[in-house]
Amino acid sequence: KTFEDCGFATELSRAIAKQGYEKPTTIQCQALPIVLSGRDIIGIAKTGSGKTAAFVLPMIVHIMDQPELQKEEGPIGVICAPTRELAHQIFLETKKFAKPYGIRTSAVYGGMSKLDQFKELKAGCEIVVATPGRLIDLLKMKALTMMRATYLVLDEADRMFDLGFEPQIRSIVGQIRPDRQTLLFSATMPRKVEKLAREILADPVRVTV
Ligand code: AMP
Repeated sequence: KTFEDCGFATELSRAIAKQGYEKPTTIQCQALPIVLSGRDIIGIAKTGSGKTAAFVLPMIVHIMDQPELQKEEGPIGVICAPTRELAHQIFLETKKFAKPYGIRTSAVYGGMSKLDQFKELKAGCEIVVATPGRLIDLLKMKALTMMRATYLVLDEADRMFDLGFEPQIRSIVGQIRPDRQTLLFSATMPRKVEKLAREILADPVRVTV
């Protein structure tokens, strides 16, 4: 299977090839057509599976498909991850694909200046990659609005729960319009994560690798 078989227009598949990705990984093969069709998904996958591109590439398509939204403020795509390290990795992977299309990505997590992140968000972005605590802080400071957010990714949901971020996740999800597309990735599905998934995803497709 190729990225074009997964539903990518030639232009984006060329950008993907340029990154040295010759063919989709297993999780990408399974998840990409579902996510590109606009459906919610639960992906049971670990780091190293290529799950980041499985949610980032359709996000690029999602953003480019909505030119009328470009007038408004705030991110269109929101990615939450448990740790700074993971958020930073996701940020790098996202920027690779987003930047050539003029899509701006901001990363916000602890350990970096909140004021600098505030200023960056105020300047505008289409994608934000964040740890839950810092994103809540910046939402409270009105550094950004979730007004036009329509694509939400919760990555390593089980680890976010282990780190006690459930209230923050629920607060973030509650600020995003209900007709969004929601993607939840997790290495394991403990009962608490399963319950959250039932509450915040709409008729999700489940994919396990
Ligand atoms: P991830 O599981 O998302 O952390 O990805 C693991 C590594 O695989 C990252 O370094 C990606 O850049 C790389 N990668 C993702 N998808 C592909 C692909 N289709 N072909 C080759 N490498 C990939």
